[in-house]
Amino acid sequence: MSLPDPLTRLIEQLQRLPGIGPKGAQRLAFHILKTPREEAELLLEAVRSVKERVTYCSVCNNITDVDPCPMCTSGERDHRIICVVEEPQNVGVIEKTREFNGVYHVLMGALSPLQGIGPDDLKIKGLLTRVRDGVAEVILATNPNVEGEATAIYLARLLA
Ligand code: ZN
Repeated sequence: MSLPDPLTRLIEQLQRLPGIGPKGAQRLAFHILKTPREEAELLLEAVRSVKERVTYCSVCNNITDVDPCPMCTSGERDHRIICVVEEPQNVGVIEKTREFNGVYHVLMGALSPLQGIGPDDLKIKGLLTRVRDGVAEVILATNPNVEGEATAIYLARLLA
């Protein structure tokens, strides 16, 4: 089946999203095609404002719309305890438990020799600076998989 050019282009773009294969991309594209124009505009506007307004905190690398982020400037959090996580999503998971009142440091990934991700590809320098400026405790909360554990061991040695 030959599709109109704009539809083909939409399918190509959707297919670049993680977890979306050719079939999924086609289904989404046809869904968007059927969607009322106002709804499609809302989707466009949401994508645009994420790119325009959401950025990364220059202290902890978490996603934020103000820099530094509200957690890094909060007077109610304990800035001497840093919890190190891999991705911004991990911060949300820990925050939901409401059991941690320190601050975070997002590495933006984990060490993975297989994927060619080394220490220089992660936000480690900023962590070292923060630790040098004086913290009481660093909690390594990388993911419980091979990469996460390798990253935690690497950081533990580096911080020791
Ligand atoms: Zn921050």
